[in-house]
Amino acid sequence: METTDLHVHVFPYDYCRDRPSDSVGLARTAKIIRSFRDEATNSLLVDNGDFLQGNPMGDYIAYERGMKEGDMHPIIKAMNVLGFDVSTLGNHEFNYGLDFLMKTIDGADFPVVSANVTKGALAANPRDDELFLKPYVIVDKMIKDGVGNEHPIRVGLIGFVPPQIMNWDRRHLEGKANARDIVDTAKAWVPEMKEAGADIIIALSHSGIDANDRSDGMENASLHLADVEGIDALFTGHHHLVFPGPKYADMTGVDAEKGRLFGKPAAMGGFWGSHLGIIDLMLARDGNSWKITGFTTSAPSIFERDGRKVIPVVESEEDVLATVQAEHDQTLEYVRRAVGKTSAPLHSYFALIADDPSVQIVSQAQTWYIDQMMKGTEWEGLPILSAAAPFKAGGRGGPEYYTDVAPGDVAIKNVSDLYLYPNTVRAVAITGAQVQEWLERSAGIFNQIEPGKKDQALINNEFPSYNFDVIDGVTYKIDLTQPSKYDSKGNVLDANANRIVDLKFDGKPIDPNQNFVVATNNYRAGGGGNFPDINDGVVIFIAPDTNRDVIVRYIVDKGTINPSADSNWTFKSVDGATAVFETGPKAKAFMKDVRDVNIEAAGEGAEGFAKYRITM
Ligand code: MN
Ligand code: MG
Repeated sequence: METTDLHVHVFPYDYCRDRPSDSVGLARTAKIIRSFRDEATNSLLVDNGDFLQGNPMGDYIAYERGMKEGDMHPIIKAMNVLGFDVSTLGNHEFNYGLDFLMKTIDGADFPVVSANVTKGALAANPRDDELFLKPYVIVDKMIKDGVGNEHPIRVGLIGFVPPQIMNWDRRHLEGKANARDIVDTAKAWVPEMKEAGADIIIALSHSGIDANDRSDGMENASLHLADVEGIDALFTGHHHLVFPGPKYADMTGVDAEKGRLFGKPAAMGGFWGSHLGIIDLMLARDGNSWKITGFTTSAPSIFERDGRKVIPVVESEEDVLATVQAEHDQTLEYVRRAVGKTSAPLHSYFALIADDPSVQIVSQAQTWYIDQMMKGTEWEGLPILSAAAPFKAGGRGGPEYYTDVAPGDVAIKNVSDLYLYPNTVRAVAITGAQVQEWLERSAGIFNQIEPGKKDQALINNEFPSYNFDVIDGVTYKIDLTQPSKYDSKGNVLDANANRIVDLKFDGKPIDPNQNFVVATNNYRAGGGGNFPDINDGVVIFIAPDTNRDVIVRYIVDKGTINPSADSNWTFKSVDGATAVFETGPKAKAFMKDVRDVNIEAAGEGAEGFAKYRITM
């Protein structure tokens, strides 16, 4: 049985939104673990890493309470209750530094293995690497056969993490650690495990499944790892997906229905406790050893979906909850309390008509983060721009559906209000010409405005606000007398139309051939919104961190943030024209913050919205 990517989720609770959640929590997965234990005569329970970071409880322990010598980390307490046999490290275990990690795993009642993270430089031979942890363990178990006789078995368990930790956590690891290619590491250690008497060998691969050709230092190497002789079965993770499962259909070497990687049994148990990865092996005594004579794999879930509704299928285990009740309560207090301060109001009431603090802060944090991540890469030194869109901007969400945080304290729950989706950060490398097209696509949210005409509707309501990217780091004007170049789906409407004018970088007209790094999210970089040329082909950096986490880190790092918008985009004036748009009634208090747009109240809008007029 495998848990993976728990990210500190023990309670079925979404701390970011400060409300219960039925799709997360080791306390729920625990119910499935125990029912399998009751049913199966022989079992092992492993964790595949990324247990330490990824929700506010993790941040609370790391940033607020700390880990003194002898302190117990709540996720380890919960895991100890369940009696894990072994765990490995995921990439997020390094997010709070090595010292914090080592103190945390000191409290574990189970061994933690990791074969490919070294202290200092890599040795010539992997088996001479000086490692932080044991590369593998061999667990001695007695197993009961069908008629009740007991036999000894030696199960070898070896752990791997993506070598990209050296880039993602450079600030913690540079000069202290190194990481070796997953498959190379396995090839070195698995024969030794055999020599040491392992009857079967199970890889704990905190790495996803990728059918591309093997490359050195590959991040998602589980498929190629399955090809290593001597490995009998694999638990995978890191991808936050489910295996067996349809997400891995039609990949060469992968049987997504039967749960096989190059014919070997494999499973991935979702994330945040959502699923339990199960590999059910049929073993037969083979002389002095054991052989696998059959297997099935599965990944039962703690919930079902009915449309958008999440229906729990198991209850929480009370003893698991009880062990971290105190930290749960402290985390609730933490998410409701300030982690930093903002010197300006953070709101999105005018996000569609002017540069806006709620978008500005996201871009500031993304730029700050990508600047760190580009260090030591071939992209270091390229100008960094940042794309961000208003997520909560009324529309179908209604007149209250806006970000609205007053100056002063910023709490964690405000950050989730600011960044609604659990996206992860990505960066793309594109040219100045492609920056322009990105903005042309965004500018399709506006209707065309005719000179001289009054009270024209400004916003095309078919166009979702999350596709209205503002790009920070350049300045530009939007000329609404022009038709939109792209329609609301991203198809070219009018190839000759250009709404983006005066596009400048560093105060000078942008060079269409200059290269830029643009910070964005996995949705946009993966082709979401069908933005011209923005897809996997231009992605240069896939972050392990959510945009939300990056914003929290930015606020913690800065203490006080100043999200005042820098007015880097405005409308080009249109002779004699006015336009109207609707926003929440609470917008009134912030009218004075809107610079460069001539705006006045224009009465009530539909369904509780307030109407405003812009003199273009
Ligand atoms: Mn993870
Ligand atoms: Mg700006």
